[in-house]
Amino acid sequence: MTTGCEGPLCRQTANDLVVYRPERAVAQVRALCPAHRDAFTARNQGAPMQVFPLAEGTHNYFAHGDGTQIATCRHCGHAIYLYPKRALRGAREPWRDGEYDETGRCTVGEERQGIRVVHEPAVTLAERDWARAASTCTTAADPHPIADCPARRS
Ligand SMILES: [Zn+2]
Ligand SMILES: [Zn+2]
Ligand SMILES: [Zn+2]
Repeated sequence: MTTGCEGPLCRQTANDLVVYRPERAVAQVRALCPAHRDAFTARNQGAPMQVFPLAEGTHNYFAHGDGTQIATCRHCGHAIYLYPKRALRGAREPWRDGEYDETGRCTVGEERQGIRVVHEPAVTLAERDWARAASTCTTAADPHPIADCPARRS
């Protein structure tokens, strides 16, 4: 599963997420291939900018924000997030189901398997579709993190 480059007319796979903060404007985020990343950083020289490598399994990101990447957990089928601070730190279990989740643990996967399971991104469409289909809530049609799961709120 890959994220396409958003450079003009580009059909390459994006490798990086560039977060660009123009003065007095909201942050902009772009997924870019190496060539377009270089062109973009050269064109916007001087503006605060951060580049985060795209993690395998990322299929989306927050368009306005800090560079948070979005994937689907291959255990629970829910949306999971890679926050840039954790991505930078290179944590071994970097995916979280919400901003306030400190553990990265996949409770649905743990219930199913009976062992400690952490959220891990599905890296193929087949993996993602299987995980979404196996979930017992609405996440297949309407992807959401476990923290917002309507089936798990009591
Ligand atoms: Zn490109
Ligand atoms: Zn999970
Ligand atoms: Zn759910």
